Amino acid sequence: MTVFARILAGEIPADFLYQDELAVAFRDVSPQAPFHALVIPRKPLKSVADAGQEDTALLGHLLRVAARVAADAGLEEGGYRVVTNVGADGGQTVEHLHLHVLGGRPMGWPPG
Ligand code: AMP
Repeated sequence: MTVFARILAGEIPADFLYQDELAVAFRDVSPQAPFHALVIPRKPLKSVADAGQEDTALLGHLLRVAARVAADAGLEEGGYRVVTNVGADGGQTVEHLHLHVLGGRPMGWPPG
């Protein structure tokens, strides 16, 4: 069971920013920017690579939730970054699909 599955099950606390029947958003425990949230599906997909045709609407929903939590955090004017890591080279450490929403400072490009 991943740490995010345990958060979804209520076994580990999280600072929730948004919840609906398909997805939840909460603050990253180790923020890499002044604002750093994670948006995850309730469905235990491992990453975007694990998503099938039947998950197309869910993936779109996750992006809309990311935009919503960013707007709620007041990031629309300054901008923000939404990123999802896949696998070892992508830097993924938790095998439950998640979108990082980062903002509150200028982001570098390319990412490290
Ligand atoms: P990734 O490296 O893309 O898989 O991102 C996993 C993220 O989960 C990291 O940014 C961690 O800081 C974050 N994380 C790990 N455990 C928790 C937790 N219990 N609550 C909130 N965020 C967490």
